[in-house]
Amino acid sequence: MDKNKISIVLGDITKQNVDAIVNAANSSLLGGSGVDGAIHRAAGPELLAECCRLGGCKTGEAKITKGYNLPAKWVIHTVGPVWNGGNYGEAELLASCYRSCLAISAEKNLKSLAFPAISTGVYNYPMLDAAKIAVTEVRKFLEKNSSLSTIVFVCFNEKIYDIYRQAIANVF
Ligand code: ADP
Repeated sequence: MDKNKISIVLGDITKQNVDAIVNAANSSLLGGSGVDGAIHRAAGPELLAECCRLGGCKTGEAKITKGYNLPAKWVIHTVGPVWNGGNYGEAELLASCYRSCLAISAEKNLKSLAFPAISTGVYNYPMLDAAKIAVTEVRKFLEKNSSLSTIVFVCFNEKIYDIYRQAIANVF
């Protein structure tokens, strides 16, 4: 397992030049605020048209579409849990989001994948715990799979960036 496959960048996920970016969507898959809104704006209306045909997505699961006007060829839409205090299976559901996205990337034989900090915006998941889950699931995946050569955690601000840097140092 190669730690060098993992990187963190401060920036906007819609600008990432990777095979696929992950969208922190809601269960309708019909667009929303935050990173979801940014991805739909940058991808253009064809993304929403394709999402309309998918019939939604359950929390913890993921579905793939094309990336349309994005630099990324694909978008993997996943639905994170809403934070409700931690006793409603949130951690397992968030881990399942990462596993589902990574499994799709392996099925499609993608080489590079970028994640936002799923559930840490409107869904209110505590950032440090969410980052630990993200990094742990990626580590577990890399121990068993060699399909991906680049996994990027895209951090929208410096606070998130610092938290990921710490989580990566602790988990790897
Ligand atoms: P959720 O509903 O899963 O909480 P949000 O979109 O509200 O989703 O937030 C998830 C994370 O994505 C937050 O940490 C937010 O700062 C971050 N984010 C928002 N816009 C972008 C963007 N364009 N690129 C990368 N990350 C983003």
